[in-house]
Amino acid sequence: MRRNAFRGPVLVALLVAAASAAAFGGAAGKTQAQAVTAASDAVPRLGMIMAVDGLSWSRLTQYRPLYSAGLKRLLDEGLVVTNARYRHLNTETGPGHASLATGAPPRVHGIVANRWFETGSDGKLRQVYCTNQTAPAVPGNPPLFFREVAKDGRLFVFADQGRFRAWETSGDVGAASVRIGYGPNGETVTFDGDDAVFLYDFRHGGGTETFTRGTQPGPANLRVDTLGDRLVQTYPAAHVVSVSAKDRAAIYLAGRSPRHVAYWYDPESGRFTTSTAYDATTPAGAIAKTTVAAFNKSQAGAQLIRRFGVVWHRLLPVPAGSGAAPADELADFQVPVNGLLFDHDLGFNRNGTFAAFYASPFVDELTADLAVTLVADPSLRLGRGPAPDLLAISFSAQDTVSHNYGPESEENLDVLRRLDVQVGRVLAALDVAVGRSGYVVGFSADHGFAPIPEHEKQVDPAAKGGRLVEGPRVAVTATDRLNRALDEALCLDPALRPVAAIEGWTLFYARPLAMRTVAGTCGDAGRLVGGPELDAVLPRTIAALFGEEIASVYLTSGAANWPAAEPMTEFVRNDFDPERSGDALLVPRPGVLMHWDPGRGTGHGSPYETDIHVPLVFWGQPFPAGCVETDTTPYDLAPTLAAVLHVTLPAATGRVILPRREPANARSGVR
Ligand SMILES: [Zn+2]
Repeated sequence: MRRNAFRGPVLVALLVAAASAAAFGGAAGKTQAQAVTAASDAVPRLGMIMAVDGLSWSRLTQYRPLYSAGLKRLLDEGLVVTNARYRHLNTETGPGHASLATGAPPRVHGIVANRWFETGSDGKLRQVYCTNQTAPAVPGNPPLFFREVAKDGRLFVFADQGRFRAWETSGDVGAASVRIGYGPNGETVTFDGDDAVFLYDFRHGGGTETFTRGTQPGPANLRVDTLGDRLVQTYPAAHVVSVSAKDRAAIYLAGRSPRHVAYWYDPESGRFTTSTAYDATTPAGAIAKTTVAAFNKSQAGAQLIRRFGVVWHRLLPVPAGSGAAPADELADFQVPVNGLLFDHDLGFNRNGTFAAFYASPFVDELTADLAVTLVADPSLRLGRGPAPDLLAISFSAQDTVSHNYGPESEENLDVLRRLDVQVGRVLAALDVAVGRSGYVVGFSADHGFAPIPEHEKQVDPAAKGGRLVEGPRVAVTATDRLNRALDEALCLDPALRPVAAIEGWTLFYARPLAMRTVAGTCGDAGRLVGGPELDAVLPRTIAALFGEEIASVYLTSGAANWPAAEPMTEFVRNDFDPERSGDALLVPRPGVLMHWDPGRGTGHGSPYETDIHVPLVFWGQPFPAGCVETDTTPYDLAPTLAAVLHVTLPAATGRVILPRREPANARSGVR
């Protein structure tokens, strides 16, 4: 047991200075080079990023005595970083996972929120979901492969790589369709199937099919490489495999290379799915496709009810003094997606059973099942190949359950106790497949969670906080109220909506931005109102309307002059992307949510302790058991794993956390 050798005070030194300035454009390259020199020379056979969606540091540690499996193992045996805080606004799932994988804040990786708006080529605003990207403008699945070969006066066209390879060796095209005289010079053309005909027609301009340019999930909005991207660039034989219940988690933990394998849960079918953004014809892609298809058939989809039932009961009784809010006290403030109070009947979910699973701890067990299946897969051989591989897992139930039932709830305690078991299963599977000394884990979260503000106030009347409400559950949203006030302040027609949307804490003006005043207190009608006029009144209008909820307004037009001495400026600047951050960033007051329900459930996204302070644990060689108490950030996860895997991560701003290597003759328990 290598950990047993370690005694006494933690002999861990951050290779870097105190990380107070870590979030701002640090020269990561240099620290990484030093780190690689200092780290053990042995490269682990597998690196793992394990994320728990929405798990704050305080929530993880509150229940520490109750863990008996994987979470206990990570906390007892790992290097536990106790003061890792995000330094960006909009602490949401897309930004957080992108930060964990790139080692940088949103201003670098570009994923500034789960959704934002961009001005399209037509001058109008369009909403962008963070993982939406343009789908290939061709039919077929997968559409990435195309070969057109002239041979013996004929043309052979393939859209299926397997059939192409078979034809190369055997000359047999398989289930072909032959069109005489179809070629540009009257050649006979043999197609390996309908996809090949479509692709051929499309490429030769002769198609009568219309191709719609839809969207698909994928990593295209990510502006920089992830650890997984750099791994496959450094080791061409490396595999990167990522699984989660959420697409944005699986996609960003993997990265930009189409070679990566990324699968996520589809709440409509109860199955794991991927997208054509990933190449299913690579060796790893093809193996994963077959394995996941078999998994879906035997363990997911229609099998879910057989496996899990439709009742979510407590795994174990709630122990006295656990700190969880009493269930009957909290129930008034919970969103009853799966009913209120244990036992939860998933049949209550009005979006169907598969959506109910998504909002229950069963989805974590399912994610772990798939991870264990992929780890054990004898063809994929994760951690047993010629190069180090990367496995990424993000568990989502902590987030979905916290949104509806609150992170302080007994439901959430149950999620964590079950997660403890699932993390243990995944680690045990790696112990068997790769060996205990063969892999290294970076464990963290994409953001924390705010407790339900109305319950906080009931418990402590002095508690601050509250919510602004967006979405269809209220007749008048926060944006509606703001638009009415802006219309009045600027003498605009009351039907005009100068603010198109608020997403997270980012505000977007309407486009095209050219409105005219009506006659009134401002004088004659017809005066043009645009960005500068809106900028001039927005801060004071927000202060008047939402002074209790919003602390400050950062106009993006003034980004060059944002006050450096103001602590929140760092958080705003770290989330700022000129193309995606709209026209203003709003800083909420502590405890204030931007939420879709007027009085129930809770969320995250703020720049405050509940949302920014998350676990960061490194387990495996060369990390000794112990803790690091220095102020640091979760942006350190990727650079640290990169250093261990001997990969550079040029875009990272985070620092490398590694034990200093002891001289050969030094007496030390740390190996
Ligand atoms: Zn999240």
